[in-house]
Amino acid sequence: MRIDIITCLPSLLESPFSHSILKRAQQKGLVTVEVHDLRDYAQNKHRQVDDYAYGGGAGMVLMIEPIMQCLDHLKSERHYDEIIYMSPDGEPLTQQVSNQLSLYKNIVILCGHYKGVDERVREHLITREISIGDYVLSGGELAAAVLADSVIRLLPGVLSDETSALSDSFQDNLIAPPVYTRPASFQGWKVPDVLLSGHERRIQEWRYEQALKRTQDRRPHLLE
Ligand code: SAH
Repeated sequence: MRIDIITCLPSLLESPFSHSILKRAQQKGLVTVEVHDLRDYAQNKHRQVDDYAYGGGAGMVLMIEPIMQCLDHLKSERHYDEIIYMSPDGEPLTQQVSNQLSLYKNIVILCGHYKGVDERVREHLITREISIGDYVLSGGELAAAVLADSVIRLLPGVLSDETSALSDSFQDNLIAPPVYTRPASFQGWKVPDVLLSGHERRIQEWRYEQALKRTQDRRPHLLE
């Protein structure tokens, strides 16, 4: 899979893809993440990518020309399954959305900044808008990193144990059961006996019961 991220603050996206699972996924060639600096596509020598909003008011708006230039460049090189704009009022990001995107070959993620992007970008240049929640961030970069992370970890081979993404919360409409590691007793706080029993079937049953209970308590709508 290939993920192209368009941003006016590329340095914000350096760290999220340079560590741990996401780094290894790229090293193994399972995903390519390319970050594009919008300023490289600016139309004037000041590398300006934003301007004042028509009608007045505080806050700058990302201009359509550099975004269009960048997208034209990318689209001339390959077909994109989806061109996504990160937006607080977009479709809410869920595990289902991540699952669907993980089946695609190439996607673009556009990060807004300041007041957002010229509305004509949203109307004419992008195919989908995704929000990571009903709150407002300063820019789309952290949201893009969240989206990309949730998608990349689903790609076959990215997690060392192929089944481990399948047992995560939401994957089967259940919240993940509790997990424990050593020591078996800490200040008298004990790990449930069943997990130490070595009895595979009973452990699986316990995990399923716990997942069900947790889902009932915390996300009952998933069971509907
Ligand atoms: N004025 C806009 C917010 C702009 S926030 C409004 O009120 O809706 C600046 C940028 O941050 C946005 O263009 C978007 O790309 C990103 N962003 C902010 N909150 C986000 C969220 N919850 N999900 C995804 N992207 C978000």
